Amino acid sequence: MEEVKYKKMQKWINNSKNKHELKFPYDLENFVRSLNGEIQNNENLEAGVYGSIEKISDKKFKISINPLVFSAQERTFTIAHEIGHLILHMGYDIDPKKWENIDSYKDSPYYRFGYSQEEDEADEFARNFLMPESEVQNFIQEMSNRSGQVLVSDVAEKFSVPNKQVLIRVKELGIID
Ligand SMILES: [Zn+2]
Repeated sequence: MEEVKYKKMQKWINNSKNKHELKFPYDLENFVRSLNGEIQNNENLEAGVYGSIEKISDKKFKISINPLVFSAQERTFTIAHEIGHLILHMGYDIDPKKWENIDSYKDSPYYRFGYSQEEDEADEFARNFLMPESEVQNFIQEMSNRSGQVLVSDVAEKFSVPNKQVLIRVKELGIID
């Protein structure tokens, strides 16, 4: 993601966590409500599509989640990914003009057709949102002090994210290469 966009994203994440008093472990369902959105299970999403997001009025949005998203980790990551589209690609709460002019946003059926740039960006948003740099580093340090080893699955459980996203995150943060 380009630097200006990245910084804007990071600022929004920090501000809105403070504003809505979001504390770890994150309750994303509640967070979405406080942003004036709703989350619904939707069995009618195409096979292979984890979630989608739409604008439903000037002030409201709806995130649909495929109930076949089986693990809590995948569900949490999918919600954060959709919030990423909301902020980065629909302009909600960050770019009023963009938000005003957007009618609907179709999330690409990722996991099926491969990734577009916007999919990568929404994933990057979700990793930053769910795995803040200092918290990941502290946790890994703690685990390593305690037992001399750090398991990907422990980090995944702690932050409620899929294992694969933990691996990408620790690379992004330069913790491993
Ligand atoms: Zn997406």
